[in-house]
Amino acid sequence: MINATHHPELRSWVDSANAHGCDFPIQNLPFGVAHSPAHTQARVVVAIGDQALDVLALAQHGLLQGMAQEAALACSGQQLNGLMSLGAPHHSALRAQLSALLAVGASHQAVVATCLLPQRDLRMRVPAQVGDFSDFFTSIHHATNSGRLARPDNPLLPNFKHLPVAYHSRSSSIVVDGTPCPRPQGQTKPAGAAQPVFGPTRCLDFECEVGLFIGQGNALGTPIPLQQAQDHIFGLALLNDWSARDMQSWESQPLGPFLAKSFMTTVSPWVVTLEALAPFRVPAADRGADAPALLPYLNDTADRAQGGVQLHLQIGLQTPHMREQGLAHHVISRPKFEDQYWTLGQMVAHQTSNGCNLQAGDLIGSGTVSGPRPGELGCLKEITQDGLHAIALPSGESKTYLEAGDEVVFTAHCQREGFVRIGFGPCAGRVLA
Ligand code: MN
Repeated sequence: MINATHHPELRSWVDSANAHGCDFPIQNLPFGVAHSPAHTQARVVVAIGDQALDVLALAQHGLLQGMAQEAALACSGQQLNGLMSLGAPHHSALRAQLSALLAVGASHQAVVATCLLPQRDLRMRVPAQVGDFSDFFTSIHHATNSGRLARPDNPLLPNFKHLPVAYHSRSSSIVVDGTPCPRPQGQTKPAGAAQPVFGPTRCLDFECEVGLFIGQGNALGTPIPLQQAQDHIFGLALLNDWSARDMQSWESQPLGPFLAKSFMTTVSPWVVTLEALAPFRVPAADRGADAPALLPYLNDTADRAQGGVQLHLQIGLQTPHMREQGLAHHVISRPKFEDQYWTLGQMVAHQTSNGCNLQAGDLIGSGTVSGPRPGELGCLKEITQDGLHAIALPSGESKTYLEAGDEVVFTAHCQREGFVRIGFGPCAGRVLA
């Protein structure tokens, strides 16, 4: 639902939020958790321009009322779980009052200004205590492209158009933007070798994904219907599902990925709320004329009409040599989230369809976001055809899989005529030697 917080004329008295191309204008107001030099405990903060608003400090000034104050007081812990668990009406009330307090012409500016922390002084944390993390496989283009490498004649497995496929991943190794990625070791069976070997992966890859944080959970045994799924989604962040392709292809027979993925997953620190994304909702991707009918629990008229998100992703890569030459990250791909075959709501409905309970702060990955066109692929395995076609970099280097010192950075923004552009901030990581 579009409301006053999305109004394109709205400006903030925090000047940096009004800068052209700023990721965090007053229409965004994403949540994060940060260590600040002024406090011993991490704080729940809201990004506004180049500043971060300390939500609990604001609550202590008595400027928030009703459900917004309740929501702000739920920010007393060192993660977002308390706020997330309250549910959408509380999140919406807090957003509305934060927007009003940060808007040009608001009263109490001097008091609110004392609750601002410069983002450059903050060390961001993983925004929630993630109890469970599952990762989906919702791009038909990624599924087809990666399937073709293994099964040229039969790339797409028969279940793909019937259910959103997923695997359970590991929450203990979720890290925040900027955390270095150690190259994992594992068992692989090189082509032509008679026996497997153990050692560092030779096929370290990224997967450019969107991460969904659960707000209010569901009781065990009570599935979340697709019609109500949006009420259980707190917001979205960017996610890098680092992957060791040689380990993955050897270990994933017949079960899913295990050690090839669990060594590390990076998330961006700012969670863009579902309400902030409201102006950028679009129809779910066209399933094509030959698609099988959806089973009722995965089919909803409103989800077909509004289940997509117009979210433009960008993947940048910088090698150590490029850094020495002063070259910026080279954009190697621009995937679009609206191309995903399955929607956010379908992932939530499917995961709870057996009665499994989701909890506030649980993380759901979309799976690699890949589009139908060249330049829209979301991982190196697809971009390089599993190492066969190297990417040419502006430094003159060529790249297949990731090497020591390589830095991968995902960024994303939403933009639509008649609304103010919002961004996600970076999700970056550098491969250790
Ligand atoms: Mn993945």
